[in-house]
Amino acid sequence: MATVMPATGIRRASAKRCRTDPAMGDAIRWQPSPNFGPRRDGLTPELIVIHYTAMSSAEAALARLCDPAAEVSAHYLIAGDGRVWQMVEEMQRAWHAGAGRWGGQGDVNSRSVGIELDNDGTYPFSDPQMRALEGLLAGIMDRWRIGPAGLIGHSDMAPDRKFDPGPRFDWVRLARQGLAVWPGQDACGEGDFIADAARFGYDPEYGADAVLAAFRARFRPFATGPLCAADTAAMQDLAHRFGVDRIGNSA
Ligand SMILES: [Zn+2]
Repeated sequence: MATVMPATGIRRASAKRCRTDPAMGDAIRWQPSPNFGPRRDGLTPELIVIHYTAMSSAEAALARLCDPAAEVSAHYLIAGDGRVWQMVEEMQRAWHAGAGRWGGQGDVNSRSVGIELDNDGTYPFSDPQMRALEGLLAGIMDRWRIGPAGLIGHSDMAPDRKFDPGPRFDWVRLARQGLAVWPGQDACGEGDFIADAARFGYDPEYGADAVLAAFRARFRPFATGPLCAADTAAMQDLAHRFGVDRIGNSA
């Protein structure tokens, strides 16, 4: 599965071309990774998974994502200054998600497009990086008919072991543009937090504490302490409006 493409170094100048999204033109640099395989069971992308690289630079992350020994990859990498590299064709299965589940389904790699952002979670994601991400998301969502509920963080699908993209990632900015979901301002009610979490997409098998931590990192980044009414109300609203049965056809 990893032998189709030759091992690569960084050959930016000769490799620069657009592979997938003509609208972004030269904004996307093609830097092939050998770390991919075919999507399994005829699956196509229904999710987009956001990551941060937690590396010293975008170039260091690019080298690792293209290193056959690392056995990791993503479809796209976005630098802090807005440069975008594509490493794996969207039709192919990149190795970014690992073990985890969302919406009652495993093998997230076969169901998703993976996007890495050059950040380690300790500082804000830059405006050029977010603008590049927004352009990329719009194209991916259009090509694969993915609605805003299909955009998730790595921590959402693997809350027991992953923290990216973390509480500094600006989900609200994406939600305002219809690229992500966000709970209603006046959500209220006394739902069953873990049941609603499962309906929204989280796997309850990870346990209430891990799911609450992942949920808060994304939707209530300044919340602390035990589960409270605001958590329950927000999760109930998300489950009601964006439950897993609606992924792929939510507008
Ligand atoms: Zn990740």
